[in-house]
Amino acid sequence: MTDSFQFSTRLIRNTVSVDPQTGAANVPVYLSSTFHQKDFDHFGKYDYSRSGNPTREALEKAIASLEGGVQGFAFASGMAAISTAFLLLSTGDHAIVPKNVYGGTFRILTQILGRFGIDHTFVDTSNLDQVEQAIRPNTKVIYVETPSNPTLKVTDIHAVSEIAKAHRCYTFVDNTFMTPVFQRPLELGADLVLHSATKFISGHSDVVAGLAVAGNKELAEKIYFLQNALGAVLGVQDSWLLLRGLKTLDVRFRKSAESALKIASFFSARPEVKTVYYPGLPGHPGSDLQMVQAGSGGAVLSFELKDEAAARCFVNHVSLPVFAVSLGAVESILSYPPKMSHAELSEEERIKAGIGNGLLRLSVGLEDPDDLIRDFTVGLTAGHENERETVKGLL
Ligand SMILES: *Cc1c(COP(=O)(O)O)cnc(C)c1O
Repeated sequence: MTDSFQFSTRLIRNTVSVDPQTGAANVPVYLSSTFHQKDFDHFGKYDYSRSGNPTREALEKAIASLEGGVQGFAFASGMAAISTAFLLLSTGDHAIVPKNVYGGTFRILTQILGRFGIDHTFVDTSNLDQVEQAIRPNTKVIYVETPSNPTLKVTDIHAVSEIAKAHRCYTFVDNTFMTPVFQRPLELGADLVLHSATKFISGHSDVVAGLAVAGNKELAEKIYFLQNALGAVLGVQDSWLLLRGLKTLDVRFRKSAESALKIASFFSARPEVKTVYYPGLPGHPGSDLQMVQAGSGGAVLSFELKDEAAARCFVNHVSLPVFAVSLGAVESILSYPPKMSHAELSEEERIKAGIGNGLLRLSVGLEDPDDLIRDFTVGLTAGHENERETVKGLL
């Protein structure tokens, strides 16, 4: 069936559905919270939009097919999807989680789930021995986020899934940084895929949304129960916007990833840059694994300048990227993790996690990469001019 088509064809086939009544080439926006029941005794497929809405369902079916899962679920944000998934756990259960997990996920584990007696251990999931050693009899989930943020460490999804299976626990994968264009965790043995669809899937910095895809029916039933019970569902108009974003996901993401590789190579050759973190660059510690499991380094990279002053100077002198949190949009987004995504860590914790004071993260958009490189050259060399001025000033 559709599965014999290439990914880009499936992307369109799953997001364009001709309305049988009108011939409309797009899924209608069903702005209706409730649905008339024709039969007194037998209710139809839809009754109330928290439990199911045809526009949201079209999106949920699309993401399920693209990730190769049995059922998809759309949530009001990535955090809504992730927190709903963690509520599969009960008091006394334990989760193994990457040390450098997304800050919001860290907050749920450390400040909320603990209150309900759900325990966790942070490990470096790129080190399989650490994962194995953290397993306890009550471990229910091994959580993976790969590549990680912001130093783009790569975790072996297949190997972690094998460890999880041997210990009868689930593998959850946050696939935000790769999307099914490049990485399909369910095919590698994971049980549940999670997304902040706010990022590449929406792609235009205009929607906050989350998605989950279950790899088997039993898990799908549990997630559906939780989605309906907790109620953090995605709104109808945002569901439609995600369907629209999905249509161009393949071309957007491939183009951005191509540019990211070019830009990462540019930064690697610059004397002002101490380190470049991009898993698509040969020499990055996870690049071989990344190429096998995803086939691309993606569109996010980080680079470390000398210190905070150099990072500030770079940000102040570039004109193309927006300086903001978030990633995965048509516009390039430059962010400063020490004051943005990782502001809650102490300086000592931050440095230990490899997030130095000169670290900047770049999500590469759809601008011409040569224009971006010219802009970044200005940012890098402005630092040098300032230094010279400072020295002159001192003299
Ligand atoms: C942004 C992000 C999230 C959280 O998603 P929201 O849509 O902001 O709630 C989770 N994981 C990763 C990797 C993210 O980048």
